[in-house]
Amino acid sequence: MIVDRSVSHGSISTLCSMPMHDKERLYQRLIQLDGRSYATYKELRGTYDFGAFALHIDHVQSDPFAAPSRMRACVPQASAAYPPHTYQNSSRSVALSAYLIDSFAAQARRHTQRSGSGYSGLIEIATPGQLLLERSAMRIDSTGVEARFTVGLPATGRRALGRQAAHLLCELLPEIIENALRYAANDAEEIERYITAGEDADILRTQLRARGLVAFVADGSVLPRRSGIDDRPLAGAVPFLSPPSLRVEFDLPNAGRVSGMGVREGVTLIVGGGFHGKSTLLRALERGIYNHRPDDGRQRVVCEASAVKIRAEDGRSIAGVDISPFINELPMGRDTTCFSSANASGSTSQAAYIAEAMEAGARTLLVDEDTAATNFMIRDERMQQLVSHEPITPLVDRVHALYRERGISTVLAMGGSGDYLDVADCVIAMEDYLPRDVTKRARTIAAAHPTARKAATAHPLAIRERIPQPHSMDARRGKRSLDARTRGDHCVLFGRETIDLNGVEQLVDGGQTRAIARALLYARTHYIDGRRSLADVLDAVERDLAERGLDALDDRCLGDLTHFRRQELAAAINRLRSLQVLQIEA
Ligand code: ADP
Ligand code: MG
Repeated sequence: MIVDRSVSHGSISTLCSMPMHDKERLYQRLIQLDGRSYATYKELRGTYDFGAFALHIDHVQSDPFAAPSRMRACVPQASAAYPPHTYQNSSRSVALSAYLIDSFAAQARRHTQRSGSGYSGLIEIATPGQLLLERSAMRIDSTGVEARFTVGLPATGRRALGRQAAHLLCELLPEIIENALRYAANDAEEIERYITAGEDADILRTQLRARGLVAFVADGSVLPRRSGIDDRPLAGAVPFLSPPSLRVEFDLPNAGRVSGMGVREGVTLIVGGGFHGKSTLLRALERGIYNHRPDDGRQRVVCEASAVKIRAEDGRSIAGVDISPFINELPMGRDTTCFSSANASGSTSQAAYIAEAMEAGARTLLVDEDTAATNFMIRDERMQQLVSHEPITPLVDRVHALYRERGISTVLAMGGSGDYLDVADCVIAMEDYLPRDVTKRARTIAAAHPTARKAATAHPLAIRERIPQPHSMDARRGKRSLDARTRGDHCVLFGRETIDLNGVEQLVDGGQTRAIARALLYARTHYIDGRRSLADVLDAVERDLAERGLDALDDRCLGDLTHFRRQELAAAINRLRSLQVLQIEA
């Protein structure tokens, strides 16, 4: 069953029903502005009736070099004319929105170009990558389509080019909207491909649990990407093919019967020689928490929605986390049940990441040896003999209990240590980019070559809830009372602090980082009160987002926000260096 979030958000028609001037009036005003100071553009704020749509000018830039002006176009269904099946549930409306953003961006590129100073003449929309995610740039429901975009109001030097602006807004923009946002102007078959891909992926994901799976990779999927900075599928790649013993089938409403590899709950180990595709498979699972474009190659690779990629991140800060399931008896008797550090080591950061992911509700952990701390992952017999005082209980001694005691599954890409053969429920070997089920062979080898290492005894795997302290989250910055913004795609500036999110690997675009920056402020002002636990705060924010969409976070009609998960919001709070918490007694 698919939860339909699209219908409960504030409807587009209410946004379109403000007092209006008409398009002629806008045209005349712009002509009058020609040659005057740029600041006179500010008068344009307001709503204009263009007949087929309403144009809202929400924010006017103060000069041609400032961030471009923010506008919205609302096209009622009377003229957009989308058949209801194209947006009838959130899986479909989100996929259709991604398609429409592309369509708008293509038309904007065709019709506009930079001309004059700064951003003059440009109409732009925040474009999606390979993923189908709710974005504030485009929304569709039974009332209509709303597109949010920016316009560089034209200038020469600091003088308004009113005539150019009149052409841009009153002639080019209507053409862009006419060609990009009406159903009849788009490719109906392509729209069908988007909405069915989105819906099938959501249905696959929701069915995983009942089948005892944490992930599914359809036969024929293309997992590798073109490059580290190009997320499109690699051309000529070896398509995925499940080993027969791991093959499962699903009946999807659109694609019909699909087969592929089921990754079962418990401990799954991905082994194989270097360069044989282990990390590529794991990365596809990481991204499988989200839906993909129909031509992505991973459109039928899905992972259980709460899965968190865990990595080592030395140097990060940690605030009052119970890492005792993994680390104990630190030098100088330092407590690890409520561990804080301004400069964590690789192993403590990875231990904290797991505890934090559990606190945020993760049911699956994804770990790649490439980004893990070796001493956190393994510890062999010889080292056990040589070093008797070792604070770390390696993950190899805990993965099994994580599942048995807490129901948390782990998928590990690990070619370097055979110690995990003893604890893996399933072992998948990647060979020339194809998976083989080597579980039986791994068991035979583990039995024939028993390790003499002792499984370390460890503390219970409790989750200690934490209450974030409001005074430790200070968003004030200079004259601004509250400020949260972003720098680049992986950095949030919260008040005077910088939150580095480079280690949060499932953050997929700058829009998510921007939304998380807004959410931090929102959480801080609405819910972080010194009484609610972090998990309660995440619940509350998640509930508001589900009810009101991304606009819940900010009432300025921003067009550059992307939906994010509670896990990533938690990751941002956890990386705030000033954060202080009170632990709730276990
Ligand atoms: P490992 O983690 O096993 O060392 P990677 O997953 O990093 O290997 O893959 C190594 C290289 O092989 C990468 O450049 C990746 O793009 C490429 N690759 C992975 N899977 C495939 C595939 N199915 N077809 C073609 N190339 C692939
Ligand atoms: Mg690798």
